[in-house]
Amino acid sequence: MTEPERTAGDADAALLQTAGLTKRFGEFTAVDHVDLAVEQGEFRSIIGPNGAGKTTLFNLISGAMRPTEGTITLAGRDITALSPAERVAENLARSFQLTTVFNGLSVHENVRLAAQSARFATMSPIERLFADPDRFDAINDRTAAIIDDLGLREVATAQASDLSYGDRRRLEVALVLATDPEVVLLDEPTAGMSGDETAATIELIEEVLTDKTVVLVEHNVDLVMRVSDRITTLNSGAVVATGTPEEIAKNEQVREAYLGGYTA
Ligand code: ADP
Ligand code: MG
Repeated sequence: MTEPERTAGDADAALLQTAGLTKRFGEFTAVDHVDLAVEQGEFRSIIGPNGAGKTTLFNLISGAMRPTEGTITLAGRDITALSPAERVAENLARSFQLTTVFNGLSVHENVRLAAQSARFATMSPIERLFADPDRFDAINDRTAAIIDDLGLREVATAQASDLSYGDRRRLEVALVLATDPEVVLLDEPTAGMSGDETAATIELIEEVLTDKTVVLVEHNVDLVMRVSDRITTLNSGAVVATGTPEEIAKNEQVREAYLGGYTA
């Protein structure tokens, strides 16, 4: 159950690939030669016990951390050296947890800023100075469409700090979508949520990300089994197995590493 062996130069290379991706903190190896090949439109989940290296792997892919070794390619382009903002401009969206909601701004202003930031990420400071956001019809259209899609129209002028918990989660999803990502990275979007909130967030993720390529880091195994096309299990920084939810549920090494007897 290893990933298909392909290189970034291949015509049929996966949309998002990592090759030999490694992160060491001093002597300690948190991510150990991880090869991922995530196909366009795939919903890939990364699971593993606490300390397996999931968040570190996530940080490497989003650009929050630089790898010690290895490469990351997106649509065949090597993005290993790009900043997080430059990755957003390459259609790799940040996660909920990396998304900044500005509490003093309205829902509409928050969404528009996120839409702008993707548009502006690759501009020089002088270009930004002369780029009047209100003239960007595309940005304004996109802002309105996303607010509608996420059912935020009623609260569009409300200040973000005044939102209900559910509306705030929806705003966070809106900010991810505002950058018009091709690939969406999510690190434990249900962390700290109650059962009901978790279910609602899962529904929202399934609904709005249907067409996207998703990499989800998640500890909630039931959620992962329901929504994933394929699951990668990490243990001690290394890939134990990659496969469909059925394959992962049956895999003995996965059970030993993480699932503690989980049966499908
Ligand atoms: P997970 O998200 O799977 O629980 P993490 O990626 O957060 O795992 O952590 C993997 C390992 O790397 C852990 O042992 C953790 O203590 C270590 N680690 C993570 N970040 C750092 C850091 N900045 N410096 C040193 N060790 C780290
Ligand atoms: Mg983590």
